[in-house]
Amino acid sequence: GRLVGSFADGEDQAVEAALRPKSLDEFVGQERVREQLDLVLTAARARGATADHVLLSGAPGLGKTTLSMIIATEMQAPIRITSGPAIQHAGDLAAILSSLQEGEVLFLDEIHRMSRPAEEMLYMAMEDFRVDVIVGKGPGATAIPLDLPPFTLVGATTRAGLLPPPLRDRFGFTAHMEFYAPAELERVVHRSAQLLDVEIDTEGAAEIAGRSRGTPRIANRLLRRVRDYAQVKADGRITRAVASAALRVYEVDTRGLDRLDRAVLHALLKLFGGGPVGLSTLAVAVGEERETVEEVAEPFLVREGLLARTPRGRIATPAAWAHLGLVPPQQAPP
Ligand code: ATP
Repeated sequence: GRLVGSFADGEDQAVEAALRPKSLDEFVGQERVREQLDLVLTAARARGATADHVLLSGAPGLGKTTLSMIIATEMQAPIRITSGPAIQHAGDLAAILSSLQEGEVLFLDEIHRMSRPAEEMLYMAMEDFRVDVIVGKGPGATAIPLDLPPFTLVGATTRAGLLPPPLRDRFGFTAHMEFYAPAELERVVHRSAQLLDVEIDTEGAAEIAGRSRGTPRIANRLLRRVRDYAQVKADGRITRAVASAALRVYEVDTRGLDRLDRAVLHALLKLFGGGPVGLSTLAVAVGEERETVEEVAEPFLVREGLLARTPRGRIATPAAWAHLGLVPPQQAPP
């Protein structure tokens, strides 16, 4: 996988369980979300009730799965984990819903990718704790109403705007997860280093945090790669020098750009004078598919204010020239 990619790869999945914060107190950053969620859960506990349905929106790797597990832990409830794409038919959802225990947390990742019929079944389940199970086919089909125990749905999506309003409205609490500030990622790195039993100093942690694209998953992944380097090439301790030497080997630069990101910027600046240039032309120049440039490289470059998408094509910002250490061509005097 891509070292700075936000989606979980196999190795991530294996270690993420060990690095997951287990309580709201251990969860780093996202102060507002934590405070609000704490109120929701504490109040529900005090009433002896099941917590309201929670919608979590935000980019991959920011901690949505982690938060859903924390919600279950704080409510002392079991959790069931599934995802929108895994639910092809309404029947799949009916099977899950009808087997829930009272108070159980159902985590539905990528909830915006559920099929239409399943989505409609979910409306009723969320609101009335009831589903209609369809038995038989054609004119003889009958709907058998089935009562469900109260449960807490935790839905996750990359963007709340992707959800149909009737679904969005059925969540009692919506939390938007932001990218993490460097100081927060530093705390994530320190915490993970401790759990992995790696020695790291403040500057080493800052170096890794600064290159992690605001994303804890990436911070944890970079930490593991830097740990490898520290073991093989140094005395095992992670300092700033060790971290930056390691990340140079892995081609992750000081802003967290990898080789592909830099190739796109480099082509835009050196071959097209900073643009505007069309996406297809840019992709050919980099030797990549259009989709790769648009979906893999560009989102972070745009977020970082290095590249802008305009109706006339892609353009580089002054920050892009500065980051690659290049000087923009002089504008012709009027
Ligand atoms: P996806 O949408 O891709 O499933 P996600 O948003 O569910 O991603 P998680 O799997 O919850 O992300 O988190 C990814 C990794 O980052 C985990 O190892 C987790 O321990 C760590 N992490 C996430 N948020 C935090 C946090 N606030 N504090 C400490 N570690 C965190």
